[in-house]
Formats: sequence, structure tokens, C-alpha cells
Amino acid sequence: MTALAEMSADALRALHADLVREHEALKSRGLALDMTRGKPSPEQLDLAAGMLALPGNGDHFTEAGEDARNYGGNQGLPEVRALFAPVLGAPPQQIVAGNNSSLALMHDVLVYALLHGVPGGERPWVKEEAISLISPVPGYDRHFALSQSLGIKLIPVALTGEGPDMDEVERLAADPSVKGIWCVPQYANPSGETYSDAVVARLAQMWTGASDFRILWDNAYVLHHLTDARPQLRNVLDACAEAGHGDRPVVFASTSKVTLAGAGLAFLAASPANVGWYLGCAGKRSIGPDKLNQLRHVRFLRDTAGIGAHMEKHRALIAPKFAAVDEVLGRRLGPYGVARWSKPLGGYFIVLDGAAGTAARIVALAKAAGLALTPAGSTHPYGHDPDDRTLRIAPTYPSLAEVEQAAEVIALCTLLAACEKHLPA
Ligand code: PMP
Repeated sequence: MTALAEMSADALRALHADLVREHEALKSRGLALDMTRGKPSPEQLDLAAGMLALPGNGDHFTEAGEDARNYGGNQGLPEVRALFAPVLGAPPQQIVAGNNSSLALMHDVLVYALLHGVPGGERPWVKEEAISLISPVPGYDRHFALSQSLGIKLIPVALTGEGPDMDEVERLAADPSVKGIWCVPQYANPSGETYSDAVVARLAQMWTGASDFRILWDNAYVLHHLTDARPQLRNVLDACAEAGHGDRPVVFASTSKVTLAGAGLAFLAASPANVGWYLGCAGKRSIGPDKLNQLRHVRFLRDTAGIGAHMEKHRALIAPKFAAVDEVLGRRLGPYGVARWSKPLGGYFIVLDGAAGTAARIVALAKAAGLALTPAGSTHPYGHDPDDRTLRIAPTYPSLAEVEQAAEVIALCTLLAACEKHLPA
């Protein structure tokens, strides 16, 4: 097969006609597939079925002998903070264990920063004329939506395969109105990349115009390996402390995709000053988290080995789905040279770059064929992908058979959209 760009006009027309026929045939099959959100499948949630019976009637005392049913303990149980200390890369006293959503913790940190200011800052962020956060792209749409809903401007910076373009980040961070950067440093959503040691070091060391600059280190996929190649992410808290910027990072993680997406535990880890600041603010908002759920997690996961063994069960369920997408895209698109896609070592997504100017068309063609994809542009702030080429594929939720079908649809629509671009007028 020839690359699309080298095909004769006749060959292109013939290919286009074949693809249109295939697309029409698909439409008549009435498929109803959904690859929009990175949700765990029912089988993945079943892995935590045993948790629903925990901690069990009568088992509500913490290691310290306190009653987990009652109010209090805003920082979270010491035993659950100890269990997750290696995951977060911080000692238990620098960890807060909260309720079920790390996104909610990110929301609260930004709201508290806006209303009260943060350690090292001169005033509440809301008192600044305008503030921005650097947003590596492609990125996570809920980071964008959260920032925008609070009136925070987003400045896109390209990811390089090992983290953001640091020349650009350093240039932007010198501006005092730039208050921070969003990072999904391991198996990024959606590119799958893990930040290199050099990138982490530069983030830690760089000069920032704002004395209260924050790295929002959303390590949502730290435990989500898909292979045995496990890129080691440098500890951002250590790197920043060594660089004399200990208050710069705030680390987030959760068990949403470890145990139960709607009933897991979220964590925040940061310097002692940041943890004190956070607890001071959070103590006004709540009299304490759901400690029974924290106890349930301790009983179920037990220790680091228990967490690792549980994650292997997830991997066994989802790695074949990632492999299926890669196989179909490789077989159907590889020869034509019209698309690139990631082969992630972990996380929840595959990112597909089609021909420039075709992402929205691919989504529309897929929709007509019965496959819902995340809208084109959602990987970029303000929904604006300047090249209109990046798509996020979320293969975890549908069954393996559905993922295979969906990948065929994606491949067909990607090729058809590229073909339309190349066809002579
Ligand atoms: N951060 C990232 C990068 C995510 O992909 C997700 C889930 N899609 C979240 C945060 C949400 O985490 P939580 O369930 O803990 O709110």
C-alpha cells in the first residue's frame, strides 16, 4: 500500500469510494459505542467487590483506638496516610487523606488560593488583576473547565513526550501573573507520557515571577502501569525542597481508578506549610472526612504489596483493550501515513493525531457510524486545538469486543477524513 500523500488521483478516488461504502454499511448496523470518558469498566469495579463488606459491623476503631464513625480527624487516619505515603512520595504528616475526589481537592486548593492566598504569597489571588495557569497540551479537560469556571486564564504549552516544553514554561513563569502550572506527570491524560527527571528538575528550580507559584501535580495515574516498563517519576516534593522551593508543589492522587471511582479516597501531599494552610482552610468547610471509607481501604488494600497486586488485576483487564486499539490502528492506518497514535505504558488513554484539520470531521463521521468520541478540541483549553488533529481515545470502559469494533470505526473515519482532505477538487 502507498502512503496517501503519494497516491495518484485515481487511486485516491477509488480508495475514497471504498471507504464511503464501508462507512455507509457501518451506519446501517446501528452501533451504539461510547469511548468518551476514562471510566473503569464494571469488571474493574468488581475487583473491589470485597470492599463493600468492610470494615464490617463492629470494626470501626482506628489504630489509635478512636471511633471512626464520629466527627473529626481532618487530616485523615494516620494508617491510611502511612499506607499511601510511598504512592505520594511524602511522609504521612505531609499528607491529607480526604473523601472520594481528587478533583474536589484541586478545586478547593484553587478556591482557597483565590479567597485567602497561599503561603509565600502577598495577597489572595482574587485580588490580582488577572491570573493564569500554564496548561500543557494535550491535557485534561476537567482541569481546563475548573480553571475557567474560577476565572483563571489558561496558557497552553506543548508537551514534548517527556513533559512540557520547559523553555516555554520558564519564559511564561517569569511573568508574575502566572500563578502555576497543571501537570499530570505520570502517564499523562491523554498523551500517556511521563515527565523526565530533567523536566522535574527544571520545574523545581526555575525562577518564577510569582513568589507563590504552584505546581499542581495531579498524579492520577501513578499506580496505573500497563507494562513491566515502569518509568520512575522523580519525586517533585524532594526536587522542589532541594531547590529551595518547598512550597511550590501540591501533589494530588486518588483511588478512583484503584478501588471505586465514585467511592474511593483522594489525597493531597505538600510541604508542612502548605498542609497547615490547607487544613486551616478545610477545617472551616468540614468537621472531618469519611473515616469509615478510609478504614475500609486500609482493611482491603493492607500494604504496598496489596496495592500492587490489586493494580495487576486492573492491568490484566485493560491492557488487552489498549493492545486491541493499537493492533487495529496499526493494521488499518499504518500503511497510509495519515495518523500517529501513542502507545502508552500506563494510564487510561490513547491519543490519536489524525491529519491536520480532520479531528472534528473524524468525530462527526464516527458519530454517524454509532460511536461517541470525546469532542475534538477537548484536549485543549477553550476547546481550541489549533491544528484540529488531536483525539483522545478511552478504551477502558467498553468490553474488549466493543473496543475492537470501536477501533475499526475510528480507523475507518480517520482514513476517510484524511482521504477527503487529499482528494483533488
Ligand atoms: N485527574 C486526572 C488527570 C484524571 O484523568 C481524572 C479522572 N479522569 C481525575 C483527576 C479525577 O480524579 P478523582 O476521581 O480523584 O476526582
